[in-house]
Amino acid sequence: MPIRVLDPELVAQIAAGEVIERPASVVKELVENALDAGASRIEVETEGGGRSRIRVADDGCGIPAAEVALAFARHATSKISAPEDLFRIATLGFRGEALAAIAAVARVTCRTRAVGEELGTYVRIEGGEIREQRPLARPPGTEMIVEDLFFNTPARRKFLKGEGAERRAIDLWISRYALAYPRVAFFLRHDRREALTLPAAREPRHRLAALYGAEVAEALLEVHEADEEMRISGWISPPGMDRPDRQEMVFFVNGRWVQDRMLPAAVLQAYHTLLPAGRFPWSFLWIDLPPDAVDVNVHPAKIEVRFRDPDRVFRLVQRAAHRALRQTAPRVFQPVAS
Ligand code: ADP
Ligand code: MG
Repeated sequence: MPIRVLDPELVAQIAAGEVIERPASVVKELVENALDAGASRIEVETEGGGRSRIRVADDGCGIPAAEVALAFARHATSKISAPEDLFRIATLGFRGEALAAIAAVARVTCRTRAVGEELGTYVRIEGGEIREQRPLARPPGTEMIVEDLFFNTPARRKFLKGEGAERRAIDLWISRYALAYPRVAFFLRHDRREALTLPAAREPRHRLAALYGAEVAEALLEVHEADEEMRISGWISPPGMDRPDRQEMVFFVNGRWVQDRMLPAAVLQAYHTLLPAGRFPWSFLWIDLPPDAVDVNVHPAKIEVRFRDPDRVFRLVQRAAHRALRQTAPRVFQPVAS
């Protein structure tokens, strides 16, 4: 689909504007764009915790020369065009706001070439104004460089956390997307030092091992469950392998990392007495359901979703975890009443 500016009526239906509040949000948005572009390899580099420089390069479909300027306009997107599209979103982005929001508060350099076009484009934007645009020879794909974040909004710059905290937030986003997209190779460097090197994995389990170590990946129990419209797959930890916090209770809904309260609750209920008080399991669960069974247009950063039938999702997740657990601990395990 070509990039187009959305109709005002459609814009009005889109959940409150996306805000770029920190370097990690820039990384998240640029990586989502690379994934939506079908990249098989994504490189991320930061300097100064992302405040001085963020570079994201992909080998995806690229941006057509005629559309590059539009890509940085507000509410311009190639991913939806009509109101009904909001109920069948299959991409990570759809609001056409991220590039405009980033370009408004930083100095952005974009080099891109669309698959099928002879020449690429170089464009430089500062504080939302295009300063330079010219043709450029390069391979297909896109490179975005975001420098001096918040250079023109000192108030926001003051609220930024330290570089270490920012790097950790970026690491977390990259490892979540790396899990969600195991077939995509990810390379992350901070201040020219390697942070994550993740070659394309054939299976999610290999990616899990690359991120958490082979021991963790091997110990986890496989989860598989489906009903007529939903599918749940992934891993949870066996009894005895628990953690002091919920940080590794990770859920992907249609490829999107979501932070939802109901999903961990469903898993915890399946463990019931198998977990000591105050301890939490590991869970990496992929929930796939038809796009119209989940509304992703409810949260500015799209990290919360609304299910059309939350009870059904809860029950299926619980049943999935329960079945995986029952296979390992038949003697200590008591079935939950349902
Ligand atoms: P959204 O992702 O919600 O559509 P963005 O502002 O993030 O909005 O991007 C605007 C448009 O620019 C996208 O719809 C897409 O067409 C194009 N685009 C942005 N980044 C890339 C990329 N890395 N590769 C290809 N196209 C891109
Ligand atoms: Mg986007």
